[in-house]
Amino acid sequence: MKRPYNFSAGPAALPQEVLEQAAAEMLDWHGSGMSVMEMSHRGREFMSIRDQAETDLRELLDVPSHYHVLFMQGGGIAENAIVPLNLSRGGTVDFVVTGGWSAKSYKEAKRYCRARVAASSEADGYTRIPAQWQLSERPSYVHVCTNETIHGVEFQELPDLKALGCDAPLVIDCSSHIASRPIDWSRVGLAFAGAQKNIGPAGLTLVIVREDLVGHALEICPSAFDYKTVAENHSMYNTPPTYAIYTAGLVFQWLKRQGGVAEMERRARAKAELLYGYIDASGWYVNKVDPTCRSRMNVPFFLPDDRLNEAFLAGAKERGLLQLKGHKSVGGMRASIYNAMPLEGVQALVDYMREFAARHG
Ligand code: PMP
Repeated sequence: MKRPYNFSAGPAALPQEVLEQAAAEMLDWHGSGMSVMEMSHRGREFMSIRDQAETDLRELLDVPSHYHVLFMQGGGIAENAIVPLNLSRGGTVDFVVTGGWSAKSYKEAKRYCRARVAASSEADGYTRIPAQWQLSERPSYVHVCTNETIHGVEFQELPDLKALGCDAPLVIDCSSHIASRPIDWSRVGLAFAGAQKNIGPAGLTLVIVREDLVGHALEICPSAFDYKTVAENHSMYNTPPTYAIYTAGLVFQWLKRQGGVAEMERRARAKAELLYGYIDASGWYVNKVDPTCRSRMNVPFFLPDDRLNEAFLAGAKERGLLQLKGHKSVGGMRASIYNAMPLEGVQALVDYMREFAARHG
């Protein structure tokens, strides 16, 4: 079955093989007589699914053994509160604001800790990563969003806080590019990611946290969100999002079959070069982000006249190119080209963009 190309920012397209496998196993998982949705989370069957998912994720992302992998709920937005509840220890937390998501993280953290902005590119319309950071004397941690899904800004390399004279752990919101490039764990204290872009369905949040950062939650932290409680109970303190964990596990196995994160990075580079290359060469479409920090996952672009937007979207839909409308805070278009988007999908988009520009230019 040939499906349309889905450019949604999230929940986003999943590999077709994964959907087909989930469909085939829907009524009877591996002879158990049950759907994964119907299993006890503490039963032998589901425990094996969970353990395999964690093992595969650790292998894919090369997660060191002194980091916990937690399967949580609440998404990135809940982590904006859960992280300061666990890591702020009554101190100051620094935020580097590079787009809508890190701005939101800062705003939410203010409810739980002394949060301050160490650097911001708001004045530049979030089109670059600020060069100068004014870090606090001793922040409890430093937060960055390594891929800004809305503004299309991505750190090409993780910040090295030690080189900036800062001992604090780095917290990264990597929701929208996890598993599309390796993570240098020597620079990261905690990484979190909502699953619904590159990992699986909505409902699962991954938290990967260095052991020594766990066990310092504020008194008011809900038990279900205390990383120590979650870690000690192997993400089973409350009922975890079992079906989402299962589906993410199928995605991890698909990733391994494809050649892992290194191969995803190679493909992401090729897809991004194709799309940005065409946008820049077109002289008609525009992406405003500084080329040194353009996202390989989320590509916002504008037509020369907003009055053409509806016609562009309608024509795209006719050709099986779905969900290209930009985020309401930015306008224009946005193509999200996560791991599950093949190069052919990006080529189909570029072909359509060229045709549309020729007709309306
Ligand atoms: N952070 C980033 C980078 C995101 O892209 C999103 C969702 N688009 C979120 C946080 C919030 O995720 P959720 O809606 O799952 O809470």
